[in-house]
Amino acid sequence: MSHAILNADLHCHSTVSDGTLSPEELAARAAANGVQLWALTDHDEIGGQHRAAAAAAAQGMRYLTGTEISVTFAGHTVHIVGLGFDPDDQQLVQGLRQTRGGRAQRALEMSDGLAQVGIRGAYEGALQFVGNPDLISRTHFARFLVESGVCRDTHEVFRKYLTEGKPGFVPHRWANLRDALSWITQAGGMAVIAHPARYAFTANEEFALFSEFKAHGGVGVEVMTGSHSSAECVQYAAMAHEFGLAASRGSDFHSPQESHTDLGTLPYLPGELTPVWELLADRIQ
Ligand code: AMP
Ligand code: MN
Ligand code: MN
Ligand code: MN
Repeated sequence: MSHAILNADLHCHSTVSDGTLSPEELAARAAANGVQLWALTDHDEIGGQHRAAAAAAAQGMRYLTGTEISVTFAGHTVHIVGLGFDPDDQQLVQGLRQTRGGRAQRALEMSDGLAQVGIRGAYEGALQFVGNPDLISRTHFARFLVESGVCRDTHEVFRKYLTEGKPGFVPHRWANLRDALSWITQAGGMAVIAHPARYAFTANEEFALFSEFKAHGGVGVEVMTGSHSSAECVQYAAMAHEFGLAASRGSDFHSPQESHTDLGTLPYLPGELTPVWELLADRIQ
C-alpha cells in the first residue's frame, strides 16, 4: 500500500450527502474502475461509513474511513478531508453534527432569495433530491433548478444563482479550521486540504491556510483531484513539497450525470511525493 502507483480514490460523495449513488453503488463503480483503496468522504457526515467499509470489503477493495468538513477560513469556505479516523468517535460525531446544524435555516433563506427572482418552491423542490434530511446542500437546489428547466446543468445553476453575490447565495459560517483538524486527529485520523485550487485566495491567504493547517496538525493536500486542471496538479505538487505535506488523490465524484472525473480514473500521484495512504497504512481496513 505504500507506493505512489496505487489506484487510490480518497474523495467522493454518496446520497448520505450530495452524491446521487448509494455507498454500495459507489463501491461497485469504484471496483469496476479498478480502485484498490477507497474512501467515501461525505460532506460533514460520517453516517455512511460502516456501509461503505462493508461494501468495499464485499468488492475486494481496501478502505479508509473518510469525510469532507466545511470550514470557514479568512472569510472563505475551505474543505478539509479527514481520513482513517474512528467513525464512532463521539467528539467527531458531535463536531460534524454541529457543523451540519445551520443547513436547514440556510436552505430556507436560499429559497427566499430565489423566490425574489421568481423561482418559487425551491426549498420543497430541493428537498425532493435530498437523501439525508440533515444535509441539504446547494447541490440539491442545483438539481431542482435543472429538473425544473431553469438551467441546462448544475454548473450553470451555480454560476447564475448559487455563488457569492447571486440570488440564491446565503453566506454561512462553517467550522473553524482548528476545530475541524482536532476532531479528525483526536479520532485517530489525518487531515488533508481538499482541492486547494478551488479557493479564491490571494497568495498571502493561501500561505496562511497552508501554514495554519500544518500548525494545527494537518498532514496532506490533494494533488490529484477531479477539481484541478493538469497545470494545477503540478502547481500543488510543488506546494506539497514546499510545505512538507503528503499528497492525496481523489476524484470528488458526485454523480454519473454531473461529474467529469469518474472514480479511479485520475493520473497516479507524482512519484516524488509521499502518498497520504503511506502515513495511514495502519488505519487501512
Ligand atoms: P454546500 O456545502 O451546500 O455549500 O454545497 C457545496 C457543494 O456544491 C460542493 O461540494 C459541490 O458539490 C457543489 N458545487 C460547488 N460549486 C459548484 C459548481 N461551480 N458547479 C457544480 N457544483 C458545485
Ligand atoms: Mn459536494
Ligand atoms: Mn469540496
Ligand atoms: Mn467533495
